[in-house]
Amino acid sequence: SMTSKVAVVTGSNKGIGLAIVRALCKQFEGDVYLTARDLGRGEEAVKILTSEGLKPKFQQLDITDVSSITSAAAFFRETYGGVDILVNNAGIAFKRKSETLQTLLLIMDPVKDNGRVVNVSSFMGSLALNLCSEEFQQRFRSEDITEDELVGLMERFVEKTKTGEHKKDGWPELVYGVSKTGLTTLSMILARRLSKERPHDNVANAPFAPLGAGPGWVRTDMAGDKAPKSPDEGAVIPVYLALLPPGATEPHGCFVTEKGDSAV
Ligand code: NDP
Repeated sequence: SMTSKVAVVTGSNKGIGLAIVRALCKQFEGDVYLTARDLGRGEEAVKILTSEGLKPKFQQLDITDVSSITSAAAFFRETYGGVDILVNNAGIAFKRKSETLQTLLLIMDPVKDNGRVVNVSSFMGSLALNLCSEEFQQRFRSEDITEDELVGLMERFVEKTKTGEHKKDGWPELVYGVSKTGLTTLSMILARRLSKERPHDNVANAPFAPLGAGPGWVRTDMAGDKAPKSPDEGAVIPVYLALLPPGATEPHGCFVTEKGDSAV
């Protein structure tokens, strides 16, 4: 209902996303939505958690399909008045498309005041950033980079990879890493924008806080079976950030790898 709280996790039919939903079902006082681009895979995942005695709800959501995003956002607005917790987890590894950045913004649209956004990023984003040209590093790290400039940089990377000129242009050979550099930078841009546009919000009235969360190296289909952490262990940092109390102002707009610790 409009008074219930709600948490939504993208790409949560398996891997870290599924583990985040499992943990939120146990710890969050409100409805928790497992979402998947594929209805069948989503329903199978819901069954897994139901068999563990948990009660996730389900919504179809493909983060690269604008109509899917629009209808999910409308559903959450109409049913709950918006989203309290949004975890952008859906995997984007090895995709050479730049849509991801734009669609992420659309999904943030229904987030309520006092809500929280957690973007599941990666250490690979920091690694890729350090391998970019000085000029690019300076732009990604600058305090005045805008969303438009960031999207432009990401599109430039995509274009240059198509013709094999990305190295000459100042980019590393890390498609996944550069996409995470973009995601972490986007978290910071959004956090700065919120701080600027809502400077009079006091602690108790803090607007939603975008955060980049690094889960560590986790055994999933994406990372393989040699990784040291289980999906449930990988969910710990994203869940910790998602469940920070509404008044918490820190951490805000940074890349977090340990509880109570943040790094850029
Ligand atoms: P998995 O491959 O196990 O899971 C990825 C999930 O994202 C799947 O549910 C997949 O759905 C979903 N997904 C992919 N594309 C879309 C889409 N267009 N719309 C909706 N959902 C989509 O990967 P992980 O659990 O390992 O990764 C989760 C997140 O954690 C990713 O953002 C990843 O970059 C990040 N990460 C992972 C690390 C690791 O060591 N595993 C380390 C650092 C970061 P489907 O089943 O339909 O493909």
